[in-house]
Amino acid sequence: MDRKLNLVPFVSVDHMLKLVLAIGVEPFLVALAGYVEADFRRWEAFDKTARVAAHSAEGVIELMPASDDKIYGFKYVNGHPGNTRDGRQTVTAFGVLADVATGYPLLLSEMTLLTALRTAATSALAARYLAPPGAQTMAIIGNGAQAEFQALAFKALLGVDRLRLYDIDRAASDKCVRNLAGMGFDITVAGSVEEAVLGAQIVTTVTADKQYATILTDNLVGPGVHINGVGGDCPGKTELHVDILKRSDIFVEYKPQTRVEGEIQQLPPDHPVTELWQVITGAAPGRRGAGAITLFDSVGFAVEDFAALRYVKDQIQRTGLYEDLDLLADPDEPRDLFGMILRAAR
Ligand code: NAD
Repeated sequence: MDRKLNLVPFVSVDHMLKLVLAIGVEPFLVALAGYVEADFRRWEAFDKTARVAAHSAEGVIELMPASDDKIYGFKYVNGHPGNTRDGRQTVTAFGVLADVATGYPLLLSEMTLLTALRTAATSALAARYLAPPGAQTMAIIGNGAQAEFQALAFKALLGVDRLRLYDIDRAASDKCVRNLAGMGFDITVAGSVEEAVLGAQIVTTVTADKQYATILTDNLVGPGVHINGVGGDCPGKTELHVDILKRSDIFVEYKPQTRVEGEIQQLPPDHPVTELWQVITGAAPGRRGAGAITLFDSVGFAVEDFAALRYVKDQIQRTGLYEDLDLLADPDEPRDLFGMILRAAR
């Protein structure tokens, strides 16, 4: 008996690029933010856990699972700040959705691009609830792989169209300027962090360095600013001076994970913070007033990846942008797994 094929849709890097182009980067980010928002609204329906991290001197490899009663998802992701020296990405990822009822995979997808998109979509979603209304100017400190995605998400979701860029490597800022040309931004490249944050209502920090870095010092953060802290996402890897945290209203994705990985690892474990889903559902207040400093202490949480994979899954049948993978050994007679080898030998 020939084996039946139980094929799993696979979204390659090439398919993801085509999908993003077919939808358009900004509409993709807006739709993705909608999926993240929808899943944050049903936060309590998820089986949640802090990600499982394997740390080394060079970086971290993480598994990020989340599931509801129908779908299970996980992402494999790494973070290796030294990689770019050898021409590699700091962050790469892939992910899976599976059917809770059978355990069979439903989707396998590249997630390096998708992580940049979902991180930016989540940052902008958080800012829509936390940033000062009408904010138009954002400083981006760290102009690497994530930077343009952040810029475009804030433009698409909040109307931010003035960027002030700073990176210790001028070539990174120049790359951002080139990539964002003609996309509706007024861009200034700053010579220092101090200069970059001048007049910015939103400050995004998205640097990569495996240490307690001080990208922003306390004196650089005035009242009313929203900080989108993206790069501090591992034990011993932070970006903000602790005094900023003490003056800020702090919003996180999932407390048990962020206490270990986020900027708040610098604070006592009982320091009050609010989970973003509580603001989205109206269970907790967001920005308290014009003078408040709000901080989204982003580390990246599994529910965002679940939402991103769900979004991609909903797009691929319509667009045909996937291929079928022969990933599952699934003999017609379920107990005759060994027989598959004998039949293949014949
Ligand atoms: P990247 O290596 O491509 O870019 C990082 C940039 O930061 C580089 O251009 C580097 O020159 C710059 N930089 C380093 N130190 C700096 C400093 N002191 N001041 C100014 N610039 C500095 O990395 P990436 O893929 O853009 O990721 C950036 C960070 O975001 C990483 O730390 C990564 O782990 C984190 N990240 C977080 C999430 C999340 O969900 N929160 C998701 C993806 C990536």
